[in-house]
Amino acid sequence: MRCVALVVAAGQGIRAGGEIPKQYRPLGGRPVLRHSLELFARHPAIDAVRVVIAEGHGPLYEQAARGLALLPPVTGGATRQASVKAGLESLAGDPPDFVLIHDAARPFLSAALIDRVCAALDRHPAVLPALPVVDSLRRTRGERVLEDVDRDGIVRIQTPQGFHFGAILDAHRHAPPAGFGDDGAVAAWAGLPVFQVPGEEDNVKLTLPEDFTAAERRLIAAAPRRTGQGIDLHRLVPGRRLVLAGVEIPFEQGLEGHSDADVVLHALTDAILGVIGADDIGTHFPNSDPRWKDADSTVFLRHALALLAARGGVLEHADVTILAERPRLAPHRAAMRASLARLLELSETAIGLKAGTCEGLGAIGRGEGIAAVALVTGRFRSVA
Ligand code: MG
Repeated sequence: MRCVALVVAAGQGIRAGGEIPKQYRPLGGRPVLRHSLELFARHPAIDAVRVVIAEGHGPLYEQAARGLALLPPVTGGATRQASVKAGLESLAGDPPDFVLIHDAARPFLSAALIDRVCAALDRHPAVLPALPVVDSLRRTRGERVLEDVDRDGIVRIQTPQGFHFGAILDAHRHAPPAGFGDDGAVAAWAGLPVFQVPGEEDNVKLTLPEDFTAAERRLIAAAPRRTGQGIDLHRLVPGRRLVLAGVEIPFEQGLEGHSDADVVLHALTDAILGVIGADDIGTHFPNSDPRWKDADSTVFLRHALALLAARGGVLEHADVTILAERPRLAPHRAAMRASLARLLELSETAIGLKAGTCEGLGAIGRGEGIAAVALVTGRFRSVA
């Protein structure tokens, strides 16, 4: 059985506010439309995906669909109904067995919902995802609340709605040109038996500006997080500057190393590389490379941040502990924290910075070197 997903994205989406139509507005770093396109494009039950777009939206569509294997888009009409009809007609030359018609403004449908609709099409010509109404219903006029409406047998209808292709094409060809809320209504008008499968509470339709705010919040809450750790240790020697967290600290000794030997930035760089499962700082910036001789270690940190960003990650929090017998670091803590906030593009409240001694124990305790331990947490917009 061949099944095509027809995604309707031809609206102007003005109620949602914003500069561009809502189906192209960014949500979690990707256009709203792209969320459902990615799901349909990789779903095993879907053989092809076609989008119905509005006149003049070609460039927005190209950006949203970049890199996905889709059928070329078709241009819709003045109403949703006309747009769906145009989409169905575009498939009529090589008709699939089934079609799933989906609103682009519902980015959160799941693969399981697609499975349910497709499975039910083996038994029924028209299938709608539906949810029960749990709140009481009343008829109103203005602010006045009137009589109770019996919610027994009332459901809320979503998309994707599934149909036997020939049946829904025929229904759209004969239906009056306006007045139907969705394709299930067109199917019912044409006399097709329409059946329901369970919908999903998460499969919301983005309509108003506050829907976008709530959707962003939900994506952030669901975004995968990873933690990375880094440890570094350098020897103190005379005749070198002491640089910690990008701040020069007055002291009669400095840390020995190929670069400026900033143990704090080295530990942080390794921790960030750990978040993305990359190799360590020594692999990215080998000691043997003369380019890194006396290098400012912010270069290493920026490189790790760029690699993180390229994987869709952003830092959420960093926590650093410095172990040093001397000098006393407490007077420099504020400057170091401000420096880290600037370098990591985090607020100072998202940075932990502690300094301790080793109570005279071991090499650090004898003042032979300084060590730093860093932990960072990164959040990913999409699974990295
Ligand atoms: Mg180092």
